[in-house]
Amino acid sequence: MLLPDDFAAKAQQLIAAGRHFDARGWVPATSGNFSARLADDSVAMTVSGCHKGELDASGIMRVDLAGKPIGSSLRPSAETRLHTELYRRDAAIGSVLHVHSANATVLSRLLEGPLRLTDYEVLKAFPGVDSHHAEVSVPVFANDQDVPRLSAKVDAWLDAHPATHGYLIAGHGFYTWGAGVDDARRHVEAFEFLFQCEITARSMYP
Ligand SMILES: [Zn+2]
Repeated sequence: MLLPDDFAAKAQQLIAAGRHFDARGWVPATSGNFSARLADDSVAMTVSGCHKGELDASGIMRVDLAGKPIGSSLRPSAETRLHTELYRRDAAIGSVLHVHSANATVLSRLLEGPLRLTDYEVLKAFPGVDSHHAEVSVPVFANDQDVPRLSAKVDAWLDAHPATHGYLIAGHGFYTWGAGVDDARRHVEAFEFLFQCEITARSMYP
């Protein structure tokens, strides 16, 4: 069976996400990385070192679920494994987006445990959440240049907490995901809004 080649379409969605995030200052100085699962179970992934607000098709490459380049001599993002492990563990995940927003970076340094979000209407942006009374827990992992080690910690958390929608890395940024690029993009916006609310609340009521 010949699978449809959806690389170009998914690459365009990732390029558009990059412009959207850059306009809001969430991917400074070539930071962040984006991916989307393709029909053949390979992954469209941002190339290492590209500015995410200035992406074109040359800034997106194909990798397999082990993170190895397919048909390219380019280097994928250093954090590719954090994407591919999510695709491997959950067939429902179709896109993973990672940004380095100031709100996520600052908030992650103030927290001493998982961030517990409740009584926010915008929580309904996440799948399976139909009331503001729900609680969404966001774990914070210590930053680590050893990506396989960090990935193992994320995996262990997700094994114990399968309803997780994203996670923070201290002093670094956050990851979130969804069934498609549009869903993951909505989750980036929702988390970013919630992190801003939490920072504002902490500065008003320290
Ligand atoms: Zn990063």
